[in-house]
Amino acid sequence: MNPPRPRPRLDAENRAFWTGGEHGHLNIQRCYDCGHFTHPPKPLCRHCQSENTAPHAVSGLATVDSYTINHQPWLPCLAVPYVIARVRLNDAPDVILTTNIVGCPVDAVDFDDPVRVIFEHQDGIWYPLFEKAN
Ligand SMILES: [Zn+2]
Repeated sequence: MNPPRPRPRLDAENRAFWTGGEHGHLNIQRCYDCGHFTHPPKPLCRHCQSENTAPHAVSGLATVDSYTINHQPWLPCLAVPYVIARVRLNDAPDVILTTNIVGCPVDAVDFDDPVRVIFEHQDGIWYPLFEKAN
């Protein structure tokens, strides 16, 4: 088994994001005044500065905005090669998550591929990763 991924420091703003996978939810902070999403989560909406925000479970469907295949063993927790991708959430197109695409050969990933979230659980953190959706 690989050593654990780097562990995020949980706080009141980001806890729903890092632990939502326990219930299969990808939680993104949403503003209930203007409707926009803010990620990474912050106390204020980044569009209208409202404090009227809360975690919102999005569908977990996304498209690959950009990606790279990493061959360098920067992190002992990740066996090379692996795909580092920026994915654009279908429900929140202004939110881009940096993640890994897993479950397929690295050369099977391409721009604009539809992907869906899966969660990798380690020690109370549910890391949102993505796999191809077709
Ligand atoms: Zn807002």
